[in-house]
Amino acid sequence: MDERAGFGRGERRRAAHLGLEAVLEEVGARAGEEFIHAGGGKVEIFSVNAVNRRAFGQRAARSALLRRREHSLVVLIEGIRRRDRRGAVARQVGTGKLDRRDTGKGGDYRAREANVYRLAEVSNAIIDQCVAQGVPFAREYGGQLANRSFGGAQVSRTFYAKGQTGQQLLLGAYASLNRQVKKGTVKQFTRYEMLDLVIIDGRARGIIARNLVTGEIERFAAHAVVIATGGYGNVYFLSTNAMASNGSVAVQCYHKGAYFANPAYAQIHPTCIPVHGDKQSKLTLMSESLRNDGRIWVPKKKEDAVKLQKGEIKGSDIPEEDRDYYLERRYPAFGNLVPRDVASRAAKERCDAGFGVNNTGLAVFLDFSEAINRLGIDVVLQRYGNLFDMYEEITDVNPGELAKEISGVKYYNPMMIYPAIHYTMGGIWVDYELQTTIKGLFAIGECNFSDHGANRLGASALMQGLADGYFVLPYTIQNYLADQITVPRFSTDLPEFAEAEKAVQAKIDKFMSIQGKESVDSIHKKLGHVMWEYVGMGRTAEGLKKGIAELKEIRKEFETNLFIPGSKEGMNVELDKAIRLYDFITMGELVAYDALNRNESCGGHFREEYQTEEGEAKRDDENFFYVACWEYQGDDEKAPVLHKEPLVYEAIKVQTRNYKS
Ligand SMILES: Cc1cc2nc3c(=O)[nH]c(=O)nc-3n(C[C@H](O)[C@H](O)[C@H](O)COP(=O)(O)OP(=O)(O)OC[C@H]3O[C@@H](n4cnc5c(N)ncnc54)[C@H](O)[C@@H]3O)c2cc1C
Repeated sequence: MDERAGFGRGERRRAAHLGLEAVLEEVGARAGEEFIHAGGGKVEIFSVNAVNRRAFGQRAARSALLRRREHSLVVLIEGIRRRDRRGAVARQVGTGKLDRRDTGKGGDYRAREANVYRLAEVSNAIIDQCVAQGVPFAREYGGQLANRSFGGAQVSRTFYAKGQTGQQLLLGAYASLNRQVKKGTVKQFTRYEMLDLVIIDGRARGIIARNLVTGEIERFAAHAVVIATGGYGNVYFLSTNAMASNGSVAVQCYHKGAYFANPAYAQIHPTCIPVHGDKQSKLTLMSESLRNDGRIWVPKKKEDAVKLQKGEIKGSDIPEEDRDYYLERRYPAFGNLVPRDVASRAAKERCDAGFGVNNTGLAVFLDFSEAINRLGIDVVLQRYGNLFDMYEEITDVNPGELAKEISGVKYYNPMMIYPAIHYTMGGIWVDYELQTTIKGLFAIGECNFSDHGANRLGASALMQGLADGYFVLPYTIQNYLADQITVPRFSTDLPEFAEAEKAVQAKIDKFMSIQGKESVDSIHKKLGHVMWEYVGMGRTAEGLKKGIAELKEIRKEFETNLFIPGSKEGMNVELDKAIRLYDFITMGELVAYDALNRNESCGGHFREEYQTEEGEAKRDDENFFYVACWEYQGDDEKAPVLHKEPLVYEAIKVQTRNYKS
């Protein structure tokens, strides 16, 4: 890389005001270039769209000022030309090289590259599709779609709907689905739960499901089965997932022969409201978007941390010079916007070192004082007002409220956050066509092992789910169905259906007959405790072996001491939960086996034995450059067998992840 003048701090500041294109021209830099600035620091020039131009320029200038160092910079050119030509702005950004590069790097080079490539390619179409469905994405004053930044992304290219993007996308999808229901092309079976997969002559031909209201077991036949049943984060008991989220169907398919890929890759999200007691059943996520303007810190002095833990002082009592903005300190290039796994581990490291800021010592601050002082409260509330309200409703603290003024600096109430289980990158193994190892069984969305490798970047879960559902499966499933056209409809009276139903009935009867002393939730809590303790944010071989042994004990306890009140007829929520919990135990073991096998650290999988001197994840590409696919051996007591899908990278350069410079 050559060394030259240009795009130091001065240029960046001017770029924020004059526009980057003008300044780029002045210093003779072009899109796609990388060079070392004469004053030190790397300059990278990408093409970004025009919408981001000012915002990014301002951010770069601001961060250079804040951190008082040279810093890599991202600049536009192409985007503005495209806008002028096509009138399309923001949708340029999700595509192509940048997205591929960020996603591959974010996943610590453990994703299948071809999938990442495809995901980046179809991301444009997703936004168009959702806009057409009426999703109210945020817009610029001029009416064009707005973007903001998310962790691990090099430019602002996340489309959003205030702090409710997922919910709005869901409403858009529901509205379209309901249209099809009305047209008669889709028949819905709500309040049904799939309990088993039916295989005939080696192909998936239907499912067994339970009507959750009447308790009846029913059979459904089909030429192909598509599962879209979400992730397994709730194995950990406390997570940000919805209470009914479960990995049951994935485990049913695994039991029937579908390989399970990379179960160890579970994502721990850094910005959740900390655990506050043992009566909680759920954790609340504070959107990652808050890290765009919020700064994460703990006290520099241990004695301040101790006072915070005892409740003797508040965060706002600690002046600027005594605050350790540890992400900005450790990762100057990305600062508070490092990917989730990096931010989560850094919070754990500070809390383990005794710098936690609440009574449990397991919390750090997320502070908006700088943003409010810089932008004004109105702008900050416009961006995050609904999230501030949610935080206040749960904790009774208003992050937008002025708390103190020290030496002329205004300090606002900081939020408290701590990492929590949020998303699972692992899932049922699928080929490029999204077909599992069972013919005719397809898996889409979070329940497949997806495109994210060892860590998912913010906002890309929905992108992947929407890509799978709208732009991949509709085309690939046809390849499977093409030679099925001559196969007549199946009758649910076939012996394979009867057998599967009998097995489901027998399982339910067995669970109902245990009549022990432990409730489903109390066993689930124990499971969650073992998972968090031994299979959580920091894993060791010793801990994982202990964890596997304890999980076996938990299964025994379930089988001998579970108590389910009521009967199997009619609605019985405890029975529903018990069925899921039994599968969660298998799922927990799978996570632990995979984590034990993977003697390296990558993305969300951190083995404490494999870290750099600075505490960063240390990959072993020589021995672990593969997707780990686990095959069931017919008995939960037996360890699963590992198959390896080698990873091939052609478009993305595999390198050590670096968010520092
Ligand atoms: C709090 C929160 C915020 C998030 N925010 C974002 C964000 O801003 N951007 C982003 O990209 N991603 C976000 N994610 C992640 C994203 O929402 C999920 O990855 C995504 O919703 C997964 O979609 P899915 O359709 O694959 O699975 P799900 O949305 O989990 O849907 C699975 C469905 O299957 C049903 N199901 C499960 N088991 C059975 C069964 N046995 N029988 C019948 N039905 C069953 C479930 O009830 C559920 O309705 C967020 C996740 C959470 C928890």
